[in-house]
Amino acid sequence: MEAVVLLLIGFLLSHFCNAAPKRAGDIMLPPGTDRAAMNFNLRPEQKWPNGVVPYYIDNTFSSSESDFILYAMDQFEYYTCIRFVPWTEEYTYWIWITKTNACQSYIGRISESHGQYLELAAGCLQMLGIPIHELMHAIGFFHEHTRPDRDDYVTIHWDQIDTDLWYNFEKRSSSEVDSLGSPYDYSSVMHYGRYDFAKSSLPTITPKDPSATIGQREYFVWSDIIGINNLYNCDCNVYQC
Ligand SMILES: [Zn+2]
Repeated sequence: MEAVVLLLIGFLLSHFCNAAPKRAGDIMLPPGTDRAAMNFNLRPEQKWPNGVVPYYIDNTFSSSESDFILYAMDQFEYYTCIRFVPWTEEYTYWIWITKTNACQSYIGRISESHGQYLELAAGCLQMLGIPIHELMHAIGFFHEHTRPDRDDYVTIHWDQIDTDLWYNFEKRSSSEVDSLGSPYDYSSVMHYGRYDFAKSSLPTITPKDPSATIGQREYFVWSDIIGINNLYNCDCNVYQC
């Protein structure tokens, strides 16, 4: 039985791999899709039904690394109504968490009929905020600094970014992104740091508030948690769900 399951997984994954996903920064885009939207009103199929996210952590990770990923998932389950469940044949879609030399994820659920990668390099398992960040992509979140109102809060230094990585800094339209009524938050775990993707020693993104700190990868902040609960219509208070 186990062999059949593994064969099925292998078939589905090889089919998926043949689709040759386009990659940029830490976001993966579904083939043939220029943008993956967080606005679930436009793309309801990208929302994980009932906030349930089947997952499969493969054996590329050590047991302590797997435990760290599960600990990141626990944070979602403590504060939000998102529920990560081990993948079974009951589910035709899931996130396949594997170790590569990258840390990246698709935005939201990309298919009802096969798995989708979420990649975590060993170096991405040193700070809890990194797997939390990638899991937030997987449930439907873009980066904070790509919000439609970002120009009021940050300056992007395009000349310090290789053009093939500009994608990571492009502003989203108000139709594809739902900012969930929450104010821009420099401290979001979904915000890039000053030197992310820098091609020199100069910053790529600077806050207009000179006292602001950006790019933390320690943990969720409340706006992240509230955003998840709003996006998935969770009936949770802000302290525990
Ligand atoms: Zn990211």
